[in-house]
Amino acid sequence: MTETTTTRLLIIGPPGAGKGTQAGKIAERYGVPAISTGDIFRANIKGGTELGKQVQAIIEQGELVPDSLTNDIVADRLTQADAASGFLLDGYPRTVDQVHALDGMLDGSSLDAVVLIEADVDEVVARLLKRAQVEGRADDTEEVIRHRQDVYAAQTAPLVELFSERGILLSVDGIGSVDAVAERIASGLDAQLGARVAS
Ligand code: AMP
Repeated sequence: MTETTTTRLLIIGPPGAGKGTQAGKIAERYGVPAISTGDIFRANIKGGTELGKQVQAIIEQGELVPDSLTNDIVADRLTQADAASGFLLDGYPRTVDQVHALDGMLDGSSLDAVVLIEADVDEVVARLLKRAQVEGRADDTEEVIRHRQDVYAAQTAPLVELFSERGILLSVDGIGSVDAVAERIASGLDAQLGARVAS
């Protein structure tokens, strides 16, 4: 008899805290797909799809895409076969309404752990300005970078308290090298999840 274990994870933190990089490492460690709503939106913008056209201006201004649209995309993505044994969400949920929508999608089960990457605003703004020089993302101008931090503080930071109350929050200091932060996350998650590391 095979025992199936699902590992449902979320990574959260201010824009520029290094979520995407760490998400890849966590997903690999636990053998689940990393699902980034930001990546899905950017791929659609690049591909010139109808969805891409709908969200492009919103993203370039650093605003949030409407919950209804975002929720539908995630609901659809979570029904794909590779997410059956779990997933790591990166950048979703970002509002209280999205948390409730996700609760509905999980149908009674819950996330196993939420990794919060903690980082100082000045530090993350500096990182994003550097990334802007290298990658040239349309939402990486200084004005938009600062606006995204404000949107995070107003709309997304309150979720931290909510996940803390649920007893699934793992806070990790995001300052340091990629490997140092990855190590902090891995040891914290291993302790929280038990032995689920992908073989
Ligand atoms: P990210 O790569 O996660 O920083 O996302 C880039 C941009 O995509 C954000 O600034 C938002 O405009 C949009 N976005 C990504 N995820 C969400 C979400 N869960 N809800 C609303 N907008 C989102």
